[in-house]
Order: sequence, then C-alpha cells, then structure tokens
Amino acid sequence: MSDLNPFKIAQQQLDEAAKKLGLDPATHELLRWPQREFRFTLPVRMDNGRIKIFHGYRVQYNHARGPTKGGLRWHPDETIDTVRALAAWMTWKCAVVNIPLGGGKGGVTCNPKELSDNEKERLARAYIRAVARELGTHRDIPAPDVYTTPQIMAWMMDEFETIHGEAHPGVITGKPIPIGGSQGRGDATARGGAYVVREAARAIKLDVTNASYAIQGFGNAGQFAATLHKEILGGGRLMAVSDSRGGVISKNGLDPEEIVKYKLETGKVEGFPDTQPISNADLLELDVDILYPSALEGAITESNAAKIKAKVICELANGPTTPAADHILHQAGKLVLPDFLANAGGVTVSYFELVQNMYNYYWTLDDVHRQLDARMTDAFAAVFETRERAKVHMRLAAYMVAVTRVAEACKLRGWV
Ligand code: NAD
Repeated sequence: MSDLNPFKIAQQQLDEAAKKLGLDPATHELLRWPQREFRFTLPVRMDNGRIKIFHGYRVQYNHARGPTKGGLRWHPDETIDTVRALAAWMTWKCAVVNIPLGGGKGGVTCNPKELSDNEKERLARAYIRAVARELGTHRDIPAPDVYTTPQIMAWMMDEFETIHGEAHPGVITGKPIPIGGSQGRGDATARGGAYVVREAARAIKLDVTNASYAIQGFGNAGQFAATLHKEILGGGRLMAVSDSRGGVISKNGLDPEEIVKYKLETGKVEGFPDTQPISNADLLELDVDILYPSALEGAITESNAAKIKAKVICELANGPTTPAADHILHQAGKLVLPDFLANAGGVTVSYFELVQNMYNYYWTLDDVHRQLDARMTDAFAAVFETRERAKVHMRLAAYMVAVTRVAEACKLRGWV
C-alpha cells in the first residue's frame, strides 16, 4: 500500500473539482477542511487486568446536507489524517447518491486481531462514552467499517442508550437485525457496486456475462462482490482473490461461493484447492475485464497504474487509487468507478436503516434492494452524464456532481 497521506489526496481531488467547477474561494476553502474533529484517549482494562490507553478519533467533515454519517475503523495504521480523508469521502459519497446526510468518520488505532471479545466490548463502550455527546440521529451517526462488526455496533448502541436512559436505535447503523438493523445491510456495499458495474457495462457495451474479474481484499466488501457479481451481472468468471496474507489464482476460474466458504472457515484464501499463489501486486495487474480493489487506500499508484489491464475498475475500497494514477488510467481508456460512487451502497442502506429506526417500521428485503438499485442507477447516470459533457475522468465527474450539491447547501444556509 502507498504511504501517501490520504487527506492530502482527498484535498487534491477536491481542488481539481473546485477548479473545474469555478468554485468561489470561500466555498472551496470551507470544503477543504473538516468542520469539527475530536480526538480521545480511551483507557480500557485488558483481560490481564492492566489498563491500556487507546487513541480514538471522530471527524464531522460537513453537515450542510444533514447529520454527519460514516463508519468507524479499527486499524493499527489509523491516524487523524486517514479519518479526515475518509470523512471527506463520506461527504461526497452521501451527496453523489443524493441522500440527506453529511459526511463523518471515526476510528481507533488498534489491532482488533489481538483483542479478545471482552476487550473489544470494553473498547467499544469506552469509545461511545468519549463521543456520546457529539452523536445522535440529528447530529452524527456512526456505522461499521474495516474490522468493526454488527456486534460492535450493538455494544455501542447499548452504551449510548444506557447513557441516555432511552431507546436510540438510529444513533448507529449496521446493527444486527433483531435490534433495529436493516434487511440487506450486510451485502449493501458490494451490491451497490454490482449495480454500478451493470450500468457501466451497459454504457460502454461490455458483455458482463462473459467478463472475467479479480478481487483485492476479501472481507465484507470483497466476499459479497465475488458472489453478487455472478447474481446481479448474470455470470462472469472470478479469476483471483487476495487478502492481507496473499492471494490465489486459477486459470479455470474460482467458484465464488466455495472460496467465500473457505475464507470464512480458515480465515484466509491461501491454500484454496486447485489454485496457485499470487501476490497482491500481481493480482492488480491481471488481464481481467473488471477489477474490484476492496482492501485499503493507495493500492493503485503512479508506479503500477500503467500496468493495470482491467477495462473497468470498481473501487469498493475507499481511496485505492492516487490522483496521479487516476490520470494514467483515464488516458489508457480505463473506466474507473470511483470509491464514493461504487461503494455508496453501504451508506445508502445505512440511511434506509436510519429512516426505518426513526419511523420504527421495517422494510422487506425486496424494498431495500429496489430502493438501492434506483439510487445507484441514478447516481451512475448523473456521474456518467457529467463525464461525457465535461470530458473529464469519472472521479472528477463524481466530484463535480457531489461538490455542486454540497456547495449549494452551504450557500443556501448562508455559510458562504
Ligand atoms: P474488512 O475488514 O471486512 O476486509 C478487509 C479485507 O482487506 C480483509 O480481507 C483483509 O485481509 C484485506 N486486506 C488488508 N490489507 C490488505 C492488503 N495489503 N492487501 C490485500 N488485502 C488486504 O473490510 P471491508 O468492510 O470489506 O472494507 C474494505 C474496504 O471497503 C475499505 O476500504 C472500506 O473502507 C471499504 N468500504 C466498506 C464498506 C462496508 O460496508 N463494509 C462500505 C464502504 C467502503
């Protein structure tokens, strides 16, 4: 992964869009920075009886279009700058799919693989005690992200409700279904991505039923991408997948359901029968039709962009492509489906979950899929139309759509 500062990348991306849109200097400067950010020290009693101090963050990037919304990442490399970047991308993401929410993000620097379930619960509750006064359905609504789970969301909601002494199911989304989670949240990110790939394939006349695809990162987003690609696009051949331990490839294609099962049973993809090992770097450069970067930031950079052969790059991960790599891919005629469009299915169903919690009335799985499909299809159409009209690359087109909407809300509020 690249060591480029992701927040600097997020600012550079905005700068490019601001220039193209002729944004006034005050609005541009406002949108370059988080409106509010918080840092916490979190003392947690570990199973060995000792207290360990964790560092946590919450960034509320922009609330012009509604309460801020965004996941919580638990990762050893988490810094305030990754959280700022992710919060900025959440702002653009909510705007591009046109949901009435702003952008936020949070995180804790930790290695969840080294924590017991009891330690995770104590860390989750400590985080909520630190941030509770800044959260709420009308303020800021967290959700899961890398290495955080529905169970962690359940502990967090419980802690918030304990502090307030009343029910607040909408304070956090991505909850388990029995305590206010939405149908369809589990696979929403990858499902949204598959709808966008379907629309993109139509737009560029790519026959997806025969398309080959590869997936980097095999967690929530990557695993569902493997199976939903087949379900929503009516076929395709999965050639390779990878996770943090390494990847596997098969000339004859991998069975998506079987490799997901193997990953869930063994915790890795390495060693899946009838496959050869492949490095993460080589997987990105495979000669496939569609590539799903589904791990972390900075996977596609100036040094490997020219070697990418996929025709369509569906960024389920946040920030996998650097700005310099974007231009190289665009010039090579690749269609990049940018992160905050391609992976917006997760936040869209999180928004549906919030709506259901606020009404205390729950939708069927079909309702969720239909509404998600409509939002993703409209979002792709708006971005693709802007790309064609303004003759820009897809990420810039998506920024132009999103920034125009957020800037308009800032102006209407009289902020700029
Ligand atoms: P996850 O924790 O479930 O999975 C992450 C996967 O990436 C794991 O398989 C891990 O082994 C792998 N990984 C880590 N480092 C790697 C490396 N260097 N090379 C290859 N693989 C590596 O997380 P997730 O929820 O699937 O999220 C993945 C990406 O998708 C993140 O960028 C996240 O921000 C983004 N995303 C997720 C959602 C969601 O709803 N889950 C929504 C929007 C965006």
